[in-house]
Amino acid sequence: MRNITIAIDGHSSTGKSTVAKQLADYIGYLYVDTGAMYRAVTLFALREGCVSEEKVDEKRLVSLLSDISLYFEKNTDGKAEIFLNGENVEKDIRTLEVSEYVSPVATISEVRRKLVEQQRAMRKGQGIVMDGRDIGTVVFPNAELKVFMTATAEVRAQRRYEELQERGDSITYEEVLENVTERDRIDSTREDSPLKQAKDALVIDNSEMNLEDQFHILLQLAKDRMAGRI
Ligand code: C5P
Repeated sequence: MRNITIAIDGHSSTGKSTVAKQLADYIGYLYVDTGAMYRAVTLFALREGCVSEEKVDEKRLVSLLSDISLYFEKNTDGKAEIFLNGENVEKDIRTLEVSEYVSPVATISEVRRKLVEQQRAMRKGQGIVMDGRDIGTVVFPNAELKVFMTATAEVRAQRRYEELQERGDSITYEEVLENVTERDRIDSTREDSPLKQAKDALVIDNSEMNLEDQFHILLQLAKDRMAGRI
């Protein structure tokens, strides 16, 4: 079995992180949630006053980028959590406020350059499952397995809404739907590394699939690539 790179991209709230992590755990690969990295930079921007009147102050954020240090560390359950300048911000990056500003922050080329460099360095020759928006197109264009996950906006918003409700967030389904579609719009139309399906990516529409089905499809694809059958 060879160590391969697995790139999982797709629209917002498709549940790709959940299945990507499950796959990585099962095959003993490193899992990296790159969305968490963009979210952590956004949290930093909000805390440092780089957002005013609903606009991101790009210049100021770019001037502060060298002050940002990000790393992942496993918690007691073995789940990798993100640290921003030494502080565990795994929970703070999942708020609606961060979700609202993350896509504008992710359009900034200097931000992308910094994070992509760190993402490429994480591979270090071992097997890796990385999920995001530009993994198969920009970060690892030579990844042995590329998957593009999607589902209807309504299904994605409903799943995300239920998740947020469980966490006790007071938010309406309409607000979630608007955030999901607006993020997709910004992510797909930005100039630098827009969200798009890599030519050689396999598409999984999980609108009507449960987690188990998705996991088995991914696992089979991964096994075939690892064994060099495809
Ligand atoms: O994956 P998640 O929904 O947490 O990502 C949050 C946002 O981060 C996305 O909507 C996108 O704007 C940005 N992102 C990105 N490139 C990645 C991962 C995430 O632009 N590789």
